[in-house]
This record gives sequence, structure tokens and C-alpha cells, in this order.
Amino acid sequence: MDFIDLKAQYRALREPINQRIQQVLDHGQYILGPETVELERRLAAYVGAKHCISVASGTEALLIALMALDVGPGDEVITVPFTFVATAEVIALVGATPVFVDVEPDTCNMDVSKLEAAITGDTRAIIPVSLYGQPVDMDEINAIAARHGGITVIEDAAQSFGASYRGHRSGHLSAIGCTSFFPSKPLGCYGDGGAIFTDDDGIARASTEIRVHGQSARYHHTRIGVGGRMDTLQSAILLAKLDRFDWEVQRRIALGARYGEAIRASGAHAALVSVRPDRSSVWAQYTVQVEQRDAVQKTLQQAGIPTAVHYPKPLHQQPAYRELCAPGSFPVSEALAQRVLSLPMSADLSEADQDRVVQALAQATTT
Ligand SMILES: *Cc1c(COP(=O)(O)O)cnc(C)c1O
Repeated sequence: MDFIDLKAQYRALREPINQRIQQVLDHGQYILGPETVELERRLAAYVGAKHCISVASGTEALLIALMALDVGPGDEVITVPFTFVATAEVIALVGATPVFVDVEPDTCNMDVSKLEAAITGDTRAIIPVSLYGQPVDMDEINAIAARHGGITVIEDAAQSFGASYRGHRSGHLSAIGCTSFFPSKPLGCYGDGGAIFTDDDGIARASTEIRVHGQSARYHHTRIGVGGRMDTLQSAILLAKLDRFDWEVQRRIALGARYGEAIRASGAHAALVSVRPDRSSVWAQYTVQVEQRDAVQKTLQQAGIPTAVHYPKPLHQQPAYRELCAPGSFPVSEALAQRVLSLPMSADLSEADQDRVVQALAQATTT
């Protein structure tokens, strides 16, 4: 059993993927080729955004978004400490200060009741993370940001592409949405890739220039940028995968519900992530909370069940970030880091394998 079964997905899509790749090899426009243009159009339509700017990775999407907003030294950007490091890394990279707000114990997403207390006169942006595939309480976050003025909300939708919230798609829930097409994400390419979504023409233009070295016309550099384009081959692969994506999203939602029912019925001592009734999760990770996590993980490994820990150490406790961030302690994030365990999950996970995982989890947590 694979933790994420990407080989089964490729087997199902071999013909269209190979054909798309061959077309790129034949026309030879390897950077910003026609597939990239087509992909941006299709992704923008999918999330309902006016603009999609494809970029080299999810990290690059977040970085370019902050650069497009001119966030820099002296500015504060609020995010959560319980996330992948890239979310805070980009804040530090532009010279701003990451300010953390703790997460909720049941959704593992930002605890919005603690957000307002973290806002200061220097707050320029908020980057809430839609962790494990479930959108955050975005309406509340947008409302708080609007009340304070001058604060832009950037959704880190790296794990939630395909999820919905109150009738809208993740990636298009705030002024800017950033996602990742890293192979293991809900929509993954065969390398690195990412995208920025926005309805704002100015942010879209700035992001488009920044991803190509701040260039507004060939060799005319109006601002500092990066080398942050997605290559055409990755766009081609994503286009082929998009044709199966609706099925995959439905399948992930069904498998997530099935995991929940089976784990409850099994008597396993494992707490589940709550999904709020006004939204769906695409379960980028199917993560449970258990006591004695490391021992449980080892027992599962011996039973042939691959698992992972997202994430073992909150960012405010990471050596590289301890000094860089505004001080604070975040007890929920710290407790989650000791307890979380992600189980095998992908659209191609079979019910039989899922049952094996649940059985092994029940055994490992009750003996
Ligand atoms: C994966 C991920 C990123 C970074 O995406 P890359 O494409 O790997 O650069 C950022 N934030 C979160 C929450 C992620 O899971």
C-alpha cells in the first residue's frame, strides 16, 4: 500500500498525459507555452476567479503574492504556527515579521477568535491556511481584515484545491488565493508547480511581472522579481489531470467520510478532524489524533501501513524561526504536533486497503 498512490492515477491517465507531453515536445515552447495559457484559463474558470497566474511552486505563489502587495521590512503578516514551513518562510523572505495565531483543536485551522488580538498597526496581510484540505473560516477572517482596513487576506490553499466553502471554491475565498501542484497535493503535477488566484487586476499584473523577473516588457524590468514560472510540461500534465479531477474530488470526499465512519465503528482511540457543515474537505491529508503517536506509527509501519506526521514541530519552535517571529506560545499547535498522524489517502485508495488501515489503527490504539 502506498501513502499516496500516484502510480495508479498515472495508469488511469496514461494516454492523455503522454499525448499532452508529446505535444509540448513537438511544439517546443517549453516556457509559457500554449498549454500554460490554456491551463490558467481553465483553473481560473474552475475556482471562479478573474485571474490565474501559474507559477513555479506553491511557495513561489505565496512569495510572489506578498511581493505584489509590497510587503516588506517593518510589516507584520499573521499566519498559523501549525502548517508547512513555506507559509511562514515567505513572510521572512520578504523581510516582514511572521505573527502567529493558534489553531482550533478539532479542525486544526486558524482559531479566528484569537485573530483580532494579533492585529497591530503594522499588520499588512493575513495568510490563513486551509489545512488538510478544509477551507478556513474565511468570511470571518475577511470581515476582521475589512474592519481594520489595509489588510489583505491571502488563502494558503496549497492543500485545499478542489474544496468548497459556502458555495465557493477554495483559492477564491479572499482577495488572493495561492495553491500548490506539488505531486502529493490534491491536484498535483509531475514536478513543482503552483498558482495565484485573484479578481484584482493590479495584483494580477504585478504577479505576472514578478514571476518573470519584474519584467513588464521584454528586458524592461519595472520591479524586483523572481524566476518563478511554471514550465509548459507541468501545465500539460495538469491539463490532462483536470479531466479526472471532479471524480477525484468526489472520491476523496467519499473516502474521507468512509474513514470517519469506519474509525468510529472500529473503536480505535483516535480523534477525527471535524469538517464544518458549510464546507467540504478534499483531505490532502487524512489526519487523526492519537496518544503515543510515535509508538502507534511504529506499530502501523510493522503492519505494512505507511503513515506520516503533518507536522511534528510547530513553526515557532523551529530553530530557524524562533528568533524571527513575534514571541508567543501556542498550546493547541504544540499539543497537535505530538498527536497528529496522517493515514494513507488518495483518490485511488481502495476500500479494501482503507479497511486494513482502520483495522490496524484500531489494533494499534487499543492494545
Ligand atoms: C505544500 C504546501 C506549500 C508549498 O507548496 P510547494 O509547491 O511545495 O512549494 C505551502 N503551504 C502549505 C500549507 C503546503 O502544504
